[in-house]
Amino acid sequence: MENTTNDPKQEQKQDPPERPSHILEAPEAVLSTMNKDGTRKWMYPKLSKGSMYTRRKIVGWILIALFFALPIVKMNGEPAMFLDIVHRRFAIFGQIFYATDTLLLMLLGLTLVISVVWATALFGRVWCGWGCPQTVYMEFIFRPIERLVEGTEAQRKRRDKQGWTPDKVWRTAVKLFLYTIIAAAMSHTFVAYFVSWDVLTSWMTGAPSKHWGFFLMMGITTALIVFDFAYFREQMCTIACPYARLQSVLMDPDSLIVSYDPSRGETRGRRTKAQREQEKQGIKLKNLGDCIDCGACVRTCPTGIDIRDGLQLECISCTQCIDACDAIMIGVGKEPGLVRYTSENKIDNKPSRILRPRLVLYTGLLVLFSSVLLYLVTHASMFDINMMRATDKPFTVLPDGQVSNHFKMRTQNRIGSSQDLQVTVIEPEGAVIKAQNDAKFTLKPGQMKYIDLWIVSPNEVFKSGQSTAKLRVSNGSGAEQIIEHKMLGPVSAK
Ligand code: SF4
Ligand code: SF4
Repeated sequence: MENTTNDPKQEQKQDPPERPSHILEAPEAVLSTMNKDGTRKWMYPKLSKGSMYTRRKIVGWILIALFFALPIVKMNGEPAMFLDIVHRRFAIFGQIFYATDTLLLMLLGLTLVISVVWATALFGRVWCGWGCPQTVYMEFIFRPIERLVEGTEAQRKRRDKQGWTPDKVWRTAVKLFLYTIIAAAMSHTFVAYFVSWDVLTSWMTGAPSKHWGFFLMMGITTALIVFDFAYFREQMCTIACPYARLQSVLMDPDSLIVSYDPSRGETRGRRTKAQREQEKQGIKLKNLGDCIDCGACVRTCPTGIDIRDGLQLECISCTQCIDACDAIMIGVGKEPGLVRYTSENKIDNKPSRILRPRLVLYTGLLVLFSSVLLYLVTHASMFDINMMRATDKPFTVLPDGQVSNHFKMRTQNRIGSSQDLQVTVIEPEGAVIKAQNDAKFTLKPGQMKYIDLWIVSPNEVFKSGQSTAKLRVSNGSGAEQIIEHKMLGPVSAK
């Protein structure tokens, strides 16, 4: 009941008011990384080295190397990956796409989306554990630096409890300094994907006063990366990433998951010395499963969950619990695999299928889209040609009786080196081209040009006022395109 008295003595006898944090406390933990009162629960995951960790490390370092190499390595004279949004031109593994390549870009987008959906249905959250930059950089760059500077998980935990001691201050400063260097390298490389490495190098070596915008952008991006890897960490996966939520929808009971096998592990329980001896002699203990309840799988989990509680949204399939548990199982003389890659159906001893309707559909769509895309990319011409009528007179009858049609030809170089193009007439017989420099022109890498062309044809080629021009555009290196366009002439012509 609410206290309405003003008597101080009476007030002293009453219970002190409850703290707001107590009032707001949740009945049970909402998130593994959050205390009941909503404060952050800091994670100190113990590194578990094992076969899965080694494989993930190899994949992770390949991905890191690719990230830094793709804007630098050249393919067909272009960076292997250059997303030039300002000029609406995209170089992807030596192939140039323009914003006008609607079909190609649409197919590329569809292929990427279907690949993600297909991979998730088949391999579950494999992206989170093996490919996502958040996991890869955290586990193979930032956490190793933290371990190097601040020591083991137990040492960090102890130091954090002591508050800001001089020891913690200098270690944190060194760690953040190293983080900032890595983050700056990452943000510069990221920008190189959009402005090219050459432009980025000129900005970096030029006077800072000329590129304040660039320095500001780099500073903000670097600060965000440091914030993410030094502080935000697993919160990105557990509360911020929309793809993490989407993946749960895309998975089914046959998708690959990291799971604890309760039929083998339960009833879990610690062993007495005598029981340990019996197990070593191969004697199966009554009423005890293989899980010795050591907690190694929980201590190693970067998102703080207990894999034995079943499939959880916070699980990023990092496989650390597999390595942790395998080491324990080997240590106690049991088969590894109590925690392993499997599927919900397999764990529940239900029939498991690889080929299920949704996977057949995704595979069919993926094969279709990627085949069409591959065909179009491998058969793409080295240059684009489009011809349209000029907007002046439909045609001109010259003093010698020949008929001139004026066209505009739009040309674009699709490769990373210059091309010398030449336009010649194939049909109608007797027609010639009038154009600047005899219809020869040079296109620089990626350049687009409009060329004025006049096709002068004998009067007699026009039937009912119409005829067709057939032109050849060649680059002198074997690549050519044939284009046709309707020409207009006098109706009286035979
Ligand atoms: S439960 Fe296992 S696989 Fe999932 S996030 Fe934790 S350690 Fe990684
Ligand atoms: S690491 Fe293995 S044995 Fe230890 S608690 Fe986890 S599941 Fe049980």
